[in-house]
Amino acid sequence: MTSLWLDHYTPVAADEFVPGARYDTVVVGAGMTGLATALLLARAGQRVAVLEARHVGAVTTGNTTAKLSLLQGASLSSILRRHSLDIAKAYVSGNREGQQWLVRYCEERGIGIVQRDAFSYAGNANGRETVDAEYDAARQAGLDATLETDLELPYTTHGAVKLAGQYQFDPMDILAALARDFRGHGGVMHENVRVQGVSTNHEGGLNSGPLRSVQTTAGDVLTTKVVLATGTPILDRGGYFAALEPSRSYALAFQVPGEIPQGMYLSVDSPSRSLRTADTGGSTSLLVGGNGHIVGREPSERGSVEDLRRWTERHFPGAELTHSWSAQDYRPLDLLPYVGPILPGQEHIFVATGYNKWGMTNSIAAAMTLSGRILGGHMPWADELAHRPLPPATLGNGASLNAKVGAHMVSDWLRTAMNKDEGTTPAEGEGVVVREGVHPVGISTVDGQTRRVGAVCPHMHGILSWNNAEQSWDCPLHGSRFTCAGELLEGPATRNLSRPE
Ligand SMILES: Cc1cc2nc3c(=O)[nH]c(=O)nc-3n(C[C@H](O)[C@H](O)[C@H](O)COP(=O)(O)OP(=O)(O)OC[C@H]3O[C@@H](n4cnc5c(N)ncnc54)[C@H](O)[C@@H]3O)c2cc1C
Repeated sequence: MTSLWLDHYTPVAADEFVPGARYDTVVVGAGMTGLATALLLARAGQRVAVLEARHVGAVTTGNTTAKLSLLQGASLSSILRRHSLDIAKAYVSGNREGQQWLVRYCEERGIGIVQRDAFSYAGNANGRETVDAEYDAARQAGLDATLETDLELPYTTHGAVKLAGQYQFDPMDILAALARDFRGHGGVMHENVRVQGVSTNHEGGLNSGPLRSVQTTAGDVLTTKVVLATGTPILDRGGYFAALEPSRSYALAFQVPGEIPQGMYLSVDSPSRSLRTADTGGSTSLLVGGNGHIVGREPSERGSVEDLRRWTERHFPGAELTHSWSAQDYRPLDLLPYVGPILPGQEHIFVATGYNKWGMTNSIAAAMTLSGRILGGHMPWADELAHRPLPPATLGNGASLNAKVGAHMVSDWLRTAMNKDEGTTPAEGEGVVVREGVHPVGISTVDGQTRRVGAVCPHMHGILSWNNAEQSWDCPLHGSRFTCAGELLEGPATRNLSRPE
């Protein structure tokens, strides 16, 4: 399943990996967070390397819907229910700075970025209350939002918040420009290099502090600072995986005869529906997204894609599907991104995660926060967010998230224990977990080839579940994903699946 953006992307040049090379900062991950952070540091004169496990934009940024908006569904009212108005305003300020930076960056370089109005709408009558709450929250946080009833959508809605003058773009255009710009400032860019660990206690850093050794699949490099821009942090220190809910959702691109709604729409209620236009290859597509769920816990991912396709064809007669894809992002327990040192006081490894599907603005805010922190600058909104108290609601929620993860782990292991292999061969595109002796084994058939992999996630030993849309093995605990052959795709894991015994 290839996204509209990755389908026409021309890869940017990368550098040859030199084991033992030394850097001021190693940035892990070449999505929006990693490339923007790396560029800001390189521009300031740092010697920076980006280490990317796959290729630029391979994971969430290349599969996003790329709305650059300060109106973000029902985010602000949810944030205000848990945090003070000052914190909500700091969140908006960071997002506004991120948005303005990216708009300026695109405009200065002639990268296509299109202004559109953003709408958070109620798809059913119960959603009206959420729309009203979001309107109030947006106004309190200083956004010039309005309430609307007449929308250009061809189906019934029950009111909307509108924020005029937001933006949409092709995320791969921006990643390509950031990568080129980064290398133009002396940055070193490596693809197909997966980081597997960071160890400390090497003396003699370039600028200050001891050197750290970054272990990768291509050898080690040395650095003073490390930024984990990996979606969910790959090192288990700090336990971020336990405070993030991995949520996967779907996006489909269609050619539609006649008029297409021009705004950027997101429903605030269920089922979630996201709409925008996209101009690629000389034609305009309608993008439709939605049907989010926790990774690895959906009975049929293919069913989610089919449901979105049928919904679109019903409301946009004649719509022809051209692309469908899916991606995941991470919902933080207290609804605000975690951006800063991996552990309090550890100013050598930094994380940026938990954008809750609003990473276009938040990734740039994170890049500003982290580059500021590394270079010695301060932004009031970043300080306010960094020092936020964790409210009791968050702690309670954390306990219940972990309880759900624990319950899943136990029930999956029990189910597997009952499911003895009796020569199973799944149908084309399907997979099943069986027990061979005491070992859970995943068997799948893809393109006529039946493969067997160890079905235990190397991260926290969750039993994997088959994703019949992406034809991948997905972990229902913390969202790690693997190909049918067992190669790591994404998530907090750092190793491939084992071969069955
Ligand atoms: C379906 C969907 C729609 C969305 N739509 C929007 C939207 O309209 N607007 C919006 O603002 N946000 C949206 N988001 C959210 C946004 O896309 C993400 O928050 C953002 O792209 C995250 O960027 P990132 O750079 O942090 O992570 P990523 O783009 O995932 O980049 C992380 C990179 O790290 C690499 N990596 C991971 N582990 C390692 C390792 N061990 N070693 C080396 N490299 C590693 C990965 O290969 C990857 O390339 C959406 C998200 C989803 C899932």
